[in-house]
Amino acid sequence: MLRNSLLQLSKSGAVRQTIEKAPVSRSVVRRFVPGDRTEDAVSATAELRTTNRFATIDYLGEDTADLTQAIRTRDHYIELLKALADADLSQHGMGEVSLKLSALGQYLPGDGHKIALDHAREICQAAANAGTTVTLDMEDHTTTDATLESLRELRQDFPWVGAVIQSYLHRSEADCRDLAHEGSRVRLCKGAYKEPESVAFQSSSDVDQSYVRCLKILMAGAGYPMVASHDPRLVEIAGALAAHHNRDADSFEYQMLYGIRPEEQKRIADRGNQMRVYIPYGEEWYGYLMRRMAERPANAMFFLRGLASKG
Ligand SMILES: Cc1cc2nc3c(=O)[nH]c(=O)nc-3n(C[C@H](O)[C@H](O)[C@H](O)COP(=O)(O)OP(=O)(O)OC[C@H]3O[C@@H](n4cnc5c(N)ncnc54)[C@H](O)[C@@H]3O)c2cc1C
Repeated sequence: MLRNSLLQLSKSGAVRQTIEKAPVSRSVVRRFVPGDRTEDAVSATAELRTTNRFATIDYLGEDTADLTQAIRTRDHYIELLKALADADLSQHGMGEVSLKLSALGQYLPGDGHKIALDHAREICQAAANAGTTVTLDMEDHTTTDATLESLRELRQDFPWVGAVIQSYLHRSEADCRDLAHEGSRVRLCKGAYKEPESVAFQSSSDVDQSYVRCLKILMAGAGYPMVASHDPRLVEIAGALAAHHNRDADSFEYQMLYGIRPEEQKRIADRGNQMRVYIPYGEEWYGYLMRRMAERPANAMFFLRGLASKG
């Protein structure tokens, strides 16, 4: 129930304004979002490198219905990629970027799909210049086909572009089968949006079981699985499947979110596995933060306690 209410609130403009203006919000948000500026994302990436963790960086923002905003988002990514290269943090995919096509103009009336794709292509070129990669985040199920179509188009020129599959969707096993081929980078996550029963599993055990079925396909395949979960059982199963398929440590990676289970992130990196941390930055943190709170009441309590004690 709490999850559904918080996911509903993530779409509410009025609540968003109140929370964004609360005097303490920003300091509480910093646990999950290191800052607003390019320098903040670059510093967080440098900090992760000291403990052998990689980064994938998301410039926050989604559902843009404004071309100027979509162009601004593209420019932020291009600036970020250059800053990562200048700081020597982008080579060999060490610091890469994650994109939401909706933030690049996918919902613009008329040729939104093409506008977002063109913006993504320019960002991919900037990533290629910096020696790194791009992953296309997956949003709600109404965009899955369009995102996978954009992925196919981008991969013609940039074969290293990564995809995301959400195990809560009924379709995901089939999508994993399509994507488990040589050179294909696939992030597997549970899925963060409120989805109807017609397209998505609703119980956590069904979502977890689907995750394991998808993971089996990806680990058995020839691609590069990216295991995005904080769930200790799934992390363990991923390790066991990788061992079963004789995968080298550099043939797959684990991924977690900035500020969530940092000690576990370091432990995974210390034992010689690849660990990548998803760093969101920018001013548009509201929707992102509400989804994190929906996932875990402890995150919501942390935020509310911060508001109550200092606000
Ligand atoms: C790198 C990355 C990229 C992602 N990209 C996308 C995307 O493109 N599209 C999308 O829809 N979703 C994305 N997500 C979000 C994802 O879909 C889930 O909503 C989110 O990861 C929570 O699911 P979980 O697998 O961590 O398990 P959950 O079911 O949230 O948690 C399972 C268990 O993990 C442990 N755990 C979780 N949080 C904590 C915590 N704060 N402290 C301690 N233990 C904790 C607990 O043991 C918990 O029982 C991404 C997630 C990651 C990590």
